[in-house]
Amino acid sequence: MVSKAVDYFQDEVPFHPLTCGNDSQNHDLLRVKVREWDGSPVLYCPTEGCDYIQTWIPEMVLQAYRRDRERIDEYKNEMKDLGIELRTTETDA
Ligand SMILES: [Zn+2]
Repeated sequence: MVSKAVDYFQDEVPFHPLTCGNDSQNHDLLRVKVREWDGSPVLYCPTEGCDYIQTWIPEMVLQAYRRDRERIDEYKNEMKDLGIELRTTETDA
């Protein structure tokens, strides 16, 4: 869930995305991975050769994801009530 929330925030939410602490201009946006030694989710920079890790994830990332997911669910239910079928991705077709 945390990983989905971060991807959502980075790609969909029109706030400043979470950027690399080594090079916020040129490196890719941060993504989530599970830290091996304790299993906790951390943010990392996917740019090759960069070792930037951020051990905290802003609460607003999860809040934005929860809020919008609820809104999307509401929307889907409304459409369902109207008898309209929604396709979430093009590959569903
Ligand atoms: Zn980086």
